[in-house]
Amino acid sequence: MSRGESAWRGTPQEVPRILCQPGGGKSCGACCGMYNHKRAGEPELRARLEARTVAFHANCDVRDVESLMAFRAEWEDAPEDKLLGELPSCPFLGMLDDGETNRVGCMVHPLQNDGVDGRDCGVYDRDTCEGYLCAAHSVMSRDEKWLVLVGSRDSYVYGLAVTDVRYVRELLALAARRNGAMPTGAALGREGVREAAEAYFELKREWPWRAEDGVFGQVVPGEGLDTPRRPGPSEQVSVEPDEYEPLLRCLGTRVEDVAQLEDARAFVAARVDAFARAVAS
Ligand code: SF4
Ligand code: SF4
Repeated sequence: MSRGESAWRGTPQEVPRILCQPGGGKSCGACCGMYNHKRAGEPELRARLEARTVAFHANCDVRDVESLMAFRAEWEDAPEDKLLGELPSCPFLGMLDDGETNRVGCMVHPLQNDGVDGRDCGVYDRDTCEGYLCAAHSVMSRDEKWLVLVGSRDSYVYGLAVTDVRYVRELLALAARRNGAMPTGAALGREGVREAAEAYFELKREWPWRAEDGVFGQVVPGEGLDTPRRPGPSEQVSVEPDEYEPLLRCLGTRVEDVAQLEDARAFVAARVDAFARAVAS
């Protein structure tokens, strides 16, 4: 998921109804299990997706169910390799467009295969794959969806941001607290604001204090399908939380002492302040 220029430049009115494949060289594969791996950093994740994409095209014919089932047997992650061992992680998620864009997506989708649908061989079935829409679709406002679309540089960050409503909402709420008013659609449309939002969403890629299992943000992968709430970083070092606590939890933060917590707070505060200033300018 190389860091190309963010290419989605639509207006809030052009936010697509379905967020999975919005165009602009990015897409989301979160509900297919993209991040459900103990090694969920971007380089490792990208390498896994690329390797299985090459293997898929070398060995599979979507009309040949046996070839798909053999591929699944070989490439589906073992429970011990996943963060949530019982949560399916589909091996048919790969890189689209011959790897020339940053789009991830379903390699057995009929749109990728001249109308032939291989999704019944995946970890769900075609009806589930076709019908599922995550909470972002119903919960996020149009401006929130738009902010994620223009502010996510590539598929790695996009999938983490679009599935974290709280992280998006907190940015707007903190900017409103600083400026005395919610950012308007007109203010959000300025180039400087987009750049500041991008810097904020980039924290999802390279958060220095992300716990080993922190890619799921606010929740901790537990036994089975349990996802208990992640202890906030202030709780981890027994101090009072401040206004950045929700953001730090969304980033899956793990700190060892108060000094680390203060560094983490200052780091995220700088991105939030830059966004608020851009909105107000
Ligand atoms: S997590 Fe949401 S946006 Fe991402 S692929 Fe699934 S339904 Fe689409
Ligand atoms: S078969 Fe379903 S779960 Fe698997 S990659 Fe395709 S859409 Fe995702």
